Order: sequence, then structure tokens, then C-alpha cells
Amino acid sequence: MQEIYLDSNATTCVLPAAVAAARQAMEQGFGNPSSTHATGLQAKAMMDGVRQRASRLLGVGEGRLMFNSGATEGIQTAVLSALCALRERRDAGQRIGSLLLYGATEHKAVPESLAHWNRLLGLNLEVRKLPVDAHGRHDLQALGALIGDAAMLCTMAANNETGVISDLSAIAQLLRQRGADAYWMVDCVQALGKLALNLAATRIDYAPFSGHKLYAPKGIGMLYVRAGAPFTPLMMGGGQEAGQRSGTENMAGIAALGAVLAALEDGTTFRGHADLAAFRAQLVSSLEHAFPGIVFNMPFDLSLPTTLNFSVPGLSSKELLDLFDAARVRVSSGSACSAAKALPSYVLEAMHVPQWRASSAIRLSFGPLIDAETVGAACARIERCGEALRSSCLLPSALAPSPHDGAQDGVIQLSVDGQCTWLLSDAASATCVVIDPAAALVPRLAAFIRCQQLDLRAIVHTARPVDNGAARLALLQELSIEQVGDLGASGELALGQQRLRRVEYGDTHVYLLEQRFAFTGALAPHRIASLLDAGLVTQDTILCAAHDDGTICGTARAMHAGAAPAAELQLDAAGLPAFLRQHPDAVLVDVREAYEHAACAGGVFAGCEVRSVPLSRLAGQVAAWLQQPQRPLVFFCRSGNRSARASACLRRLGHAAAWQLNGGMAMAEATHHPLAIAA
Ligand code: PLP
Repeated sequence: MQEIYLDSNATTCVLPAAVAAARQAMEQGFGNPSSTHATGLQAKAMMDGVRQRASRLLGVGEGRLMFNSGATEGIQTAVLSALCALRERRDAGQRIGSLLLYGATEHKAVPESLAHWNRLLGLNLEVRKLPVDAHGRHDLQALGALIGDAAMLCTMAANNETGVISDLSAIAQLLRQRGADAYWMVDCVQALGKLALNLAATRIDYAPFSGHKLYAPKGIGMLYVRAGAPFTPLMMGGGQEAGQRSGTENMAGIAALGAVLAALEDGTTFRGHADLAAFRAQLVSSLEHAFPGIVFNMPFDLSLPTTLNFSVPGLSSKELLDLFDAARVRVSSGSACSAAKALPSYVLEAMHVPQWRASSAIRLSFGPLIDAETVGAACARIERCGEALRSSCLLPSALAPSPHDGAQDGVIQLSVDGQCTWLLSDAASATCVVIDPAAALVPRLAAFIRCQQLDLRAIVHTARPVDNGAARLALLQELSIEQVGDLGASGELALGQQRLRRVEYGDTHVYLLEQRFAFTGALAPHRIASLLDAGLVTQDTILCAAHDDGTICGTARAMHAGAAPAAELQLDAAGLPAFLRQHPDAVLVDVREAYEHAACAGGVFAGCEVRSVPLSRLAGQVAAWLQQPQRPLVFFCRSGNRSARASACLRRLGHAAAWQLNGGMAMAEATHHPLAIAA
């Protein structure tokens, strides 16, 4: 299945004509443009041609346009130039503003550069965030109040996470009306090729660009500086770029950028706004069909047609990313993910979208080179992702439960923000119990219970819930159930053939599913010791905590053995076939979730035994794996994070041969190591 790349705001592939131009520049036109011989002059002619073309396209007028390594460098240069000028003015006794203002949704390069150069130059001005409104556009009222005191203003033309287009005319008008003398930088990275620019006709002093966001290679960029705006070079040396940016130019990059600009200028290579908007509408329709309840985090009419930012209730950005990646659709999270916790997107937070949306957002972005066939294929895969979630009972939706192949038994761990909810289900009796429900997981739990047609017998807590039972109530409401018990006065409940018992422990509770599992709240050693003394658990009872510290589960035996886990057992894709030949009894364990399998066509590791045990169900499986004789286990997942956790868990619990596949399937693919292994 071919990859579909929908992450163009991060970077793009390189236009074939740009590859050809770069190649030409490296093979034939390899001269140094500063050399005075013919080879050098030819190179210079090529570079001058690209500069002229860029100047035409961007309306540079009398201003300057220099080549550099990309937007981060352009931003540094602009900030350095403005701040040096401000320092000079201040040293000469002139009044300067006290604020370095930047839009709250700017790329991190902007506030970081402002803070850096402000400190290095000893200016000590206040670096202040300019708020944005609910649409993600600069708050003009706040700007009006602050602009009189601004020494520099940094805004962007279009946002990289949401595609929201700034109202630059309104900002310019405000600057004019107030007679503001602040230097103004506009980050034009996401605007190139998507918005018409006529820079010299504006009040903009500095405008950085980056080639790799529009089909040129990484490492080439441009900076526009308005005629008359102050300028200080960031790099000194041989005086290239008219002394504005020393260092021999990146000629291959410039040639490639030139080819992209030529394509922009001829107007036949890239799609226009109407086509792109139609493609977006098609993608939106598939997303809405696939994920009922989806919320878009950007106003369509104020955004680039090439960027979508959305959240799906009950699904984290990590889960959605895993799902899309399994379907070989490359999108990105609108927020920074770590293993246990997704950091919310500061862009969406600045827009005051609800917290769950800020921390579960996905960005889907494409470039103007996209074609109808790719959009059609992307839509089909998106719909398949929706099907995958439905068939795994994970899609909270208002739709009737979809058919499924019978309820599943199990101990399922769901975690969010470091908190664990456990769902115990018994297939034969179609009953289930929820332990420690987390509010953020309610839609997910409800969807699962409804779809599996389970009878919810109890919702219990190991400690007094921090939300005073709000999650419990919300779950009942979602399931349209009036009331459901805890374990009542008897403290016991039958879950199919098994018995769930409550044990009081101070003001907390431990729940025992026979002696196989203990849901303990905290895994405090003294608590475990007293459960052992009372004969309520054994050394091998699987201990499940209410907090997700990444360890999944434990046993008293492992806790006694101390914290020193066995050495890591790592394999890489290249070594896997030989390992499997040496260990014919090894079991490959795919710890990806069921919906990830459902989203991808065809199996992995064709020809050898692969067991699917999603990480969320690992706790239910470990006891069987720990029994003697132990077979070697090789855990794998998409990128190696989840398999590392699974293998660490098994090793901690005493398994002698729990391996992990480094870098996961993504690395195996990237290093061209065939995943199909002969039986
Ligand atoms: N500004 C914006 C809006 C961006 O999207 C990016 C790249 O992500 C940058 C600046 C930094 O660009 P570069 O990678 O060329 O340094």
C-alpha cells in the first residue's frame, strides 16, 4: 500500500523539476558564484535569475531579497537587525517602545529568537504575547492598546498548525492609524505559493521564507527586507549576498527553489484556490463520515484551503496518529506527544478551544501539487480508518452499534494523562465492570460497552474520585442507565465464572478478580505486603494500578526482586530473520491496537507466527507468558515505543527472553528490511 503524504505544512517532497535543477547545478553549473571565471559567472547568472524571479513574484520592489538556509535563519536575521537598530536608537537617546510583541500562535522560532537576541544584546525589553481571538486571528483591540509601546511586532501570514490567515491589512491599517514606528516582521513561510504577496506595497519590514514548505529542498530560504529597514548581517565572512549573508551560497538549493518559483510563475503546475478548496471539501466529507462527532479547530472561511486541524471526541492524537499511520496516511499531531501524556497545542490553547481538543488535535495538510487521484485515495483510507475504529468498538458515535464478532473477554487498560481506567469484561455472560473511570475516557468506554452489548454491572473506585464521581455520572448518562451499583454491602460480584471482591484498605479499596488480578490504586509495597500476608494475593497475582507510570502492571514477586530490570533485549529489523532461525519457538507479538490492523491492508511478517496482543490488553496476557517453559517473545509496534514498554514490563516480571524490535515497523521499512520472513 503506497504512502499518502498529508503533512505538507511540516515539509514537502521535492518537485521533480527542482530535483533536476539541483542536479544540473551540482553536475554542470557547479561554479562558485563569487568566482570571476566563466564557470563562476554562469553560476552567478543562474542565482541572479532566481533572485529576479523571486523578487517579481513577491513584489520585492526596491527592497532586498537574500538567500539563506531557511526561515529560522531569516527570523534570526530580522530580529537581530531590528533589535540592533533599537539599541542604537536608545543609545543615541531616542525613545523606543518597551515591548517586543509577537502573535500568540507564532512558530516557536519567533518568541525564542526575540528572547535570545533581547538577552544577548542587553536590550531587556519585555517580550509580550499578543493574544488571538477564537478564530486564531490577532486580537486587534489588544494590538491597538499595545502598539504605541511596541518596539517590534512579529506576526505570521498564515498559521502552520491551523492554516488560519492573518488579517495583515487590518494590522497595517492599525499601525498607520497609530503612527506606530515598531519594526514589523511577517513570517511568510506558510503563505508562499498559497497567498498572493506584494511585499513592497506593504508596511512589512521583514519577511522570512522557507523553500522546503513548497517543494524545494530543506536548507534553502529567503529573507525580504524592506528598502530602508535596518539590517545587520547574522553571518560575516566573504561578503556574499552583497555582504548581507556571508558564506558560499547553497547553489543546488537556489537552483531548486528557482524551479519551484518558475512553476509558480507559469501557473500551470500548482493548483489554484478553487481546486484546493474543493479537495478540502472532499476530505472534510470523508472525515465527517469516518469520525462522527469530529470537530474542526479552524474557521474554514479564514484559513488556507490546504490545512485541516481537527479533534475526535474520545480519541487521543497519539491514537489517531497510530491509526492514520497504519493506513499509511501521514498526518501529524497538532500537539506534542509524549508516551504518557499529550502536551496540548499552544496554538489551539491560545484560541481558547476546549482543553480536550487542544491536546488531541490532528493536522492534515497538503500542498498545491496534490491531484484528484491522491485526494480520492486519501478519502478512501480515511473512511477505512473510521471502519477500523467501528469494528474495534472504539468509535464513540451516535450510530447504532455496528456488527461485531462477539464480545471479547479481557482486562483492558485505558489511560489518559497518567491516569488508568480498567475495564473488565466477560464474554460468556456479556457483563463488565469499570474501575476508576477517567472523565476523558467516558465517550470511549461508553462506545465500547454499547458496541460490545455488555451489561455494565458496576463502576468502582480504588480511591475517592478526584472529580467526585462526575465521570461515573457521565458514563451512566452516555449509556442511558439510571443507576448501577458498586459491589454493595457484600463487597462481591460475579463476573461470569469469576468473582470480583472488594477489600477495604483504610479509606481506599483494592479489587480482586479471583487471585489473578488485583486493582490496587497505588502499587505501594506495604499495601501489597499486607495483601500477601492476608493471603488475598499471591506472589504472581497481576497488580494493576490506577496511575499510568508506563509500567503497565506488576507482581509482588517482581517488586521483591527489586527495581533492577534484566538488560534490554533489542533486535533490529536486519537481525530479525537470523534471530527467528535461531529461535524457531519465538513468538512475534504485535502490540498495536486492533484498529491499526484493521486500517492497514495485508499482514506483516507474512509466513511466521504473529500474535496480536494490543498493549491495552497486555496485563491480561502476561501471566500466561510467564509460565514455564517460556518461549522467546519479540514485541513490535509502529515505531518501537509501545513494544519497548511491553518488553520492559515482561522483563521486569521475570521473563528471560522478552525482546523488542527497535524502531518498529517504521524503521524496518525505512531501512528496507523486508518484513516478510519465510516460515
Ligand atoms: N515559521 C513557520 C510558520 C513554520 O511553519 C516553520 C517551519 O515549520 C518555520 C517558521 C521554520 O522554518 P525552517 O524549517 O525553514 O527553519
